[in-house]
Parts: sequence; structure tokens; C-alpha cells
Amino acid sequence: MGKAVRMISSDGTLTAMAVDSADIVESAREIHRTSSVITAALGRLLTGASMMGAVLKNEDDSVTLRINGGGPAGSLIAVSDSLGNVKGYAECPDVQLPLNSKGKLDVGSAVGTDGTLTVMKDLGMKEPYLGQIPIVSGEIAQDITSYFALSEQTPTVCALGVLVDKRTGSVITAGGFIIQLLPTALDDTIDRVEECVKDIQPVTTMLGEGLTPEEICRKVLRGFDLELLDEFSPVYRCDCSKERVSRALITLGKEELLEIAQDEKTEISCHFCNRKYYFTPDEIRALADSK
Ligand SMILES: [Zn+2]
Repeated sequence: MGKAVRMISSDGTLTAMAVDSADIVESAREIHRTSSVITAALGRLLTGASMMGAVLKNEDDSVTLRINGGGPAGSLIAVSDSLGNVKGYAECPDVQLPLNSKGKLDVGSAVGTDGTLTVMKDLGMKEPYLGQIPIVSGEIAQDITSYFALSEQTPTVCALGVLVDKRTGSVITAGGFIIQLLPTALDDTIDRVEECVKDIQPVTTMLGEGLTPEEICRKVLRGFDLELLDEFSPVYRCDCSKERVSRALITLGKEELLEIAQDEKTEISCHFCNRKYYFTPDEIRALADSK
């Protein structure tokens, strides 16, 4: 189970969230058998999505992040519900790349920089909210920061990190934080925040030292008096069902479904959790006839 907090400064000028997402990222790694660099890339995207989902207002709201920068990873997708529970996948989960010049997993090269980050929020309206920005670095935290600046006009600091065991590939620590200025921010608030985050340790280092998400918020924003708004425990969760898969199949259209019904058995796996669903020819024909 992940651990997350949302905090607000007592002067009402900013909010801060932080999450320990090691369990979530390890679940994703086990499901998708990701290589180390994709564990880091998908893990960062899931961690960011979880924090962005947890601020949604209504229970049925959701947010989807999709990043594709033309790199070998292909598209990476993460979906969060309003409690920060997430699911996701990478189109190419087994990409291997040499470490970058800093000796770190080269997430930027895996994702690529020639493409977009798309954020879709389903808020129960007729049309979902859609925001799209060009990728800045493919390192994901910077891209999410840029999304908030360009699409939501919200000054944001975002840090995300995943530390992978070099030998086994399993997740040692993972997490992140998002600091956002509120419209009530004072002229000097942004300067104070920039001063705070200038020499901040990587989030994986703070988690490795045993800091909780709340302690990370307080450490990063030293000098601000922070109050706890809420705590939550996000998990990796897929909400697929045979009914949902059926609805997706119906969108293929009658002609294609009748074609599929020729097969003795149809197997569909869920992209997010690899659960398999089986359909008989009769079931497929019934879908072809439904509206
Ligand atoms: Zn699923």
C-alpha cells in the first residue's frame, strides 16, 4: 500500500502533496515485467498520476496521463481515480538502455522528447477535460511541471523518483511530491519556494532515509508552517471486468465482431493488469447484435 499526504501552508498560499509509491511501482513491475528503465519511467508516471488523481473532487472522477516522445518505450499511460489508486502500462515494457551520463536510468531517452504529454480528466461532464503540452525532457517530473504551468496556469514544483535494485530489478524506493501555489500566493511565495527546492535531496534519498511523506513535505518546505489536509493509501488497482471488456469489443463494430466470432475462442487480455477474458463465438455474436 502507498502512503500519501496533502498539506496546506497555514498562510493559505500553497499546497504540498507527497507520496511513497514503492508498493505501487513494484506491483506495476511485477505485472508488466518491466526492465529497470521502464520501471523508473512508468513508476514516475504512476506516482505523478496518483497525486493528480487524489485532488479530484468527485468519487467517479479520473485522470489519465499519456506520454509519447518517440523513444523506444512507445506510449506510457497511467490512470488514477480520485483516491490516488492507479494503473498503467508501457507499450514496450522491456526496453534496455545504458545509464545516462550521470549514471542514472535514462528515462528521458526511453521516453524521448519528440512528442506530447496529454492529460485527460474525466470529471463526469459530457466531454472530458483535455490538456496537451510538448514534452520538455521526457524525464516526466519536468513534463508534469510544464503541463501545470501551460495548461492549468498553476506554478508547480514536481519531483518524482524511482530507485531500482541494480541486481534484481526490484523497486527499493519510489515516490514524489508536488508543490503548488494557490491564487492567494504572495509576491514572495514563489521566491521562497524556489529557495527551498534549490538544494533539495532526491526524493528517493529522503525515502531511503526513512522519511514519511509528511516529513518530506516539511523538509522540502522548511520555513513554511504546514497543516495536514488529508492522508490516503493509494494502491495499484485495475477495475477491469468482463462487462467493460465487452463494451470495448462492441466499439469494434458488427462486421469485425462477426469476423472474430469465426474463432473457436477469443482471448482478450487487459493492458493494465494482464487479466485474461475469454469469449465464446456465441458471446461475440451477441455483442455484434447489441447496440
Ligand atoms: Zn485489468
